[in-house]
Amino acid sequence: MYEKFQSFLQKELTGIEEAGLFKRERIIVSPQGAEIKINTGAEVLNFCANNYLGLSNNAKLVAAAKKALDSHGYGMSSVRFICGTSDLHKELEKKIAEFFGMEDTILYAACFDANGGVFEPLLGEEDAIISDSLNHASIIDGVRLCKAVRYRYANADMEDLEKQLQAAQAQRFRLIVTDGVFSMDGNVAPLDKIYELANKYDAMIMVDESHSAGVVGRTGRGVTELYNLKGKIEIITGTLGKAFGGAIGGFTTGKKEVIDMLRQRSRPYLFSNSIPPLVASAGIKMVEMMSETNELQDKLHENTAYFVEKMLAAGFDIKPTQSAICAVMLYDAKLSQEMAAKLLNEGIYVIGFYYPVVPKDKARIRVQISAAHERAHLDKCVAAFTKVGKELGVLKSGGCGCCS
Ligand SMILES: *Cc1c(COP(=O)(O)O)cnc(C)c1O
Repeated sequence: MYEKFQSFLQKELTGIEEAGLFKRERIIVSPQGAEIKINTGAEVLNFCANNYLGLSNNAKLVAAAKKALDSHGYGMSSVRFICGTSDLHKELEKKIAEFFGMEDTILYAACFDANGGVFEPLLGEEDAIISDSLNHASIIDGVRLCKAVRYRYANADMEDLEKQLQAAQAQRFRLIVTDGVFSMDGNVAPLDKIYELANKYDAMIMVDESHSAGVVGRTGRGVTELYNLKGKIEIITGTLGKAFGGAIGGFTTGKKEVIDMLRQRSRPYLFSNSIPPLVASAGIKMVEMMSETNELQDKLHENTAYFVEKMLAAGFDIKPTQSAICAVMLYDAKLSQEMAAKLLNEGIYVIGFYYPVVPKDKARIRVQISAAHERAHLDKCVAAFTKVGKELGVLKSGGCGCCS
């Protein structure tokens, strides 16, 4: 049997390769950070990590993780409800709930699991889920596992959302679901307007703050902070794998009864291991640090504004961003690949994104800014982009010429 299957897989893989869609992984041999070393020996500046606050190799988090290794050992060898709950898990859940102004939190191995396990236990076939068309793959998969009637609205399009809410009036409960920050464009969900529509059409809201937690809002509480809606949204999901230390883990935080029900019925929680105590310990430290100071958020916001300003002045076409994601638009898939490769030669590690990750003819390089970046890093990145951009003829003519 395997021979037939093997040749089938080989053909499929060749097809992916021929379409120019084959993903290759670069290998990093240093800790994650602004400056990284890859296995070719090259040292490059990293502009494509979700390491928004520069915490991936933060000394205090590493120390907190080491301390828990000594006090709590390596693994839990259990799901939460059997013997996989430590005092550190409970403390982290409490801290995350406080951070977002919510009532309780449930931890998962990843936000992919949080989203995969949030809909099916809460909603049934009498209910409706109204979902943004650009929501993360894990939300799409989670919605698929749930029997609720599905409605979809165009990305951040409030007229369309209103239409879908009208169409969903016959259902018992309505839940609007949106990413906080959309990862390809860097735009935020218009949560103020979503909130108004939810009130008008009697719906609840769930926001996935994976790219916005730690990043958006003055103190990094996410899109709910940006729109002054702290504590007013029913459900927030998020990850510990991005700004929050970058290791592993996800969470759902929200109303008490919602979290209570998820602990009883959410399948990725009931049937999958709990996160290692060392990750919970570092997570606790992370929330404490974020509650003490805004230093990292401030630096991230300054860095992002600086980078966007310099790139616009250099003549690049940048999507308006409200996060730490800057989409440098190139439109052509091959061009985005070529540009990323040339930038790596200049010591800048970025990735080109093209169909099917973004719409056809909307290829781009996504630059992710971090609080770990210093001015010199940002300047080097802009200079490299400008050099390569000139070579490839992608700068807007009439670029000011003073920035090269
Ligand atoms: C990254 C991301 C996830 C997945 O998070 P993991 O913890 O890595 O599984 C889920 N939702 C959104 C919006 C994301 O950006």
